[in-house]
Amino acid sequence: MSNHALENAAEALRNARCAIAFTGAGISVESGIPPFRGPGGIWSKYDPELFDKGYFKRHPAEVWPVLRKIFYSGMERVKPNAAHLALAELEAAGRIAAVVTQNVDGLHQKAGSSVVYEYHGALRRMQCMECRAFFDSDGIDLEVLPPPCPACGGLLKPDVVFFNEGVPEDVHRAATDLARRSDCCLVVGTGGQVAPAGRIPILVKNAGGTVIEINRQDSLYTYNTSDYFLEGKAGDMLPRLARAVLEG
Ligand SMILES: [Zn+2]
Repeated sequence: MSNHALENAAEALRNARCAIAFTGAGISVESGIPPFRGPGGIWSKYDPELFDKGYFKRHPAEVWPVLRKIFYSGMERVKPNAAHLALAELEAAGRIAAVVTQNVDGLHQKAGSSVVYEYHGALRRMQCMECRAFFDSDGIDLEVLPPPCPACGGLLKPDVVFFNEGVPEDVHRAATDLARRSDCCLVVGTGGQVAPAGRIPILVKNAGGTVIEINRQDSLYTYNTSDYFLEGKAGDMLPRLARAVLEG
């Protein structure tokens, strides 16, 4: 990548009236969180059917140990990386209005981002499938699985979007409204394969906005949607872009 592309992208972000970031698994791999897709990803080790909502409800005793192993073992040790911190810095400086993320790890909030739309839910919450109440995951004992609802004894499910489950309607509406009002979208670590979240950068583009993409390889956005493609690791490229924006 040329410095020219970085400078041009930084200028687009500086000139934006309302910019948003749209992030995916690629921003969290450097924090040690495995992606779902690709070699070494979660789908290469586990049958995606385990993450089907209907299957989970029928076989919670089979699925819960996998959930605990993948999502709740050592999560407290996972730290945001330089890319998450750069987005928090851009928000604090008034350069981006919000982060729309497909990640469920909560690392944007841990890094200090305050406006975060979690398109696919969040691991830090669980919801009871019976009484619909929500609970903070930290307060749920995972020694005995599946963990019973503290209120009614029903089945608890991580408040993340499983297969055959819709995205949270309020988040979807708020994020798409914001995208339509934005004139710049910074895409980080996502190839845009997952609908409907993957439409966010396209909504910004269709409204006449600029799309800046940071990815390790080209994606569905690169040739049709992105105005600037900064090829590289999020943890390298995003801090460089943030410095160029904030010091330029
Ligand atoms: Zn309950």
